[in-house]
Amino acid sequence: MRAPEAGPGAQPDTGPAPTGLHARHRAVLPDWLTLLYERPIELTHGEGRHVWDADGNRYLDFFGGILTTMTAHALPEVAKAVAEQAGRILHTSTLYLSRPMVDLAERIAALSGIPDARVFFTTSGTEANDTALLLATVYRRSNQILAMRNSYHGRSFSAIGVTGNAGWSPTGLSPLQTLYVHGGVRTRGPYAGLSDAAYIDACVADLEDLLGQTAGVAALIAEPVQGVGGFTSPPDGLYAAFREVLDRHGILWIADEVQTGWGRTGDHFWGWQAHAGNGPPDLLTFAKGIGNGMSVGGVVARAEVMNCLGANSISTFGGSPVTMAAALANLDHLLAHDLQGNARRVGGLLIERLRAACAGLRVVREVRGRGLMIGVELVAPGTDEPSPRAAGLVVEAARERGLLIGKGGLSGSALRIAPPLSLTVEEAETGARILAEALREAERGMT
Ligand code: PLP
Repeated sequence: MRAPEAGPGAQPDTGPAPTGLHARHRAVLPDWLTLLYERPIELTHGEGRHVWDADGNRYLDFFGGILTTMTAHALPEVAKAVAEQAGRILHTSTLYLSRPMVDLAERIAALSGIPDARVFFTTSGTEANDTALLLATVYRRSNQILAMRNSYHGRSFSAIGVTGNAGWSPTGLSPLQTLYVHGGVRTRGPYAGLSDAAYIDACVADLEDLLGQTAGVAALIAEPVQGVGGFTSPPDGLYAAFREVLDRHGILWIADEVQTGWGRTGDHFWGWQAHAGNGPPDLLTFAKGIGNGMSVGGVVARAEVMNCLGANSISTFGGSPVTMAAALANLDHLLAHDLQGNARRVGGLLIERLRAACAGLRVVREVRGRGLMIGVELVAPGTDEPSPRAAGLVVEAARERGLLIGKGGLSGSALRIAPPLSLTVEEAETGARILAEALREAERGMT
């Protein structure tokens, strides 16, 4: 059945996918490939903050792919840049120079805050983190890495080796020796309920304790706001406090800005800037939003660290001109329209609306976030027990009402809200209203 164009709030057709894509997908793709919905949605096109499925249903997109649609769906400047570049030359490989690659490297080097910065382009966040870990390992001649509990850094062998969440880390094996540090998320237990200052002190003491028992650690890798971990922020200044300890031991700091970069957190262009005590990180990794859907990732490091590799190293598709052209157009749009400021303003309003809407709900433990990176932690109604079931119910109930959101968190009990950064006030109000309805429905279903 083809539904008429439906706005959020209208009831999309949620019957089985008529194309049978789901069955075909199951037959040829891995079982462990994550799909958000029990009846997967086949998306056909998008515009602004909306996407449409194969049945013509329209959804307000509060997840932007997975934070990949950073500015807006089908942004005309990006589409034009891609078409023009594709018409000239699609790919050169990094054996040759292309103007878009050098232009983008210059822009990112200047924006990164890292002195004497060099940029290496990859095709994903995983590959960016892999490269950063390789650089740190070679530079410091050590394969010992510090990572945060509850972290996620990608799905390669080494990225999985620094992922502090068993749900995303299928192997205990790793080419790296990883030690996990407290601090990225206020876990239950002794750390919960502490003031910000006491929390930072406790985490620093934990770090000092770890470093007292080991020698020669290469780097700490950390997301300034944990993404897959459920959009949880440590108190501002935590990584600045860590930095003092790391600097004393000569340990590098890798800031994984795959989710937090480009103004997503509203107050800052990079997530690390909330922890800027001792300046920028030694290495910064990025991906997701910068290509607005094109595969662009990379690492920024000062020349001394970037150039420590003794062997040749290329990424065949990293820095491909067509993806670079897309990223340049996307970055221009982001800066020209102050989308970081929009994330701060509209994100602030959205958090406010969600907190007000969730006030009496027993299924909600917390609404948290910064800018347009908002997490809603769910519990079994009236308890303090994390509830992945509630998260599943809300995601489905929101979809039925024309709103797409994500989920995640250490226990799978967090809703994740990260719309394109151009979200309007009206769309924020609409989304908050639908989400509140979906939360109420889930709460009713569980009591
Ligand atoms: N780092 C962070 C913080 C991420 O959230 C992700 C993906 O979700 C990655 C790295 C891996 O990026 P990709 O999926 O592009 O390999």
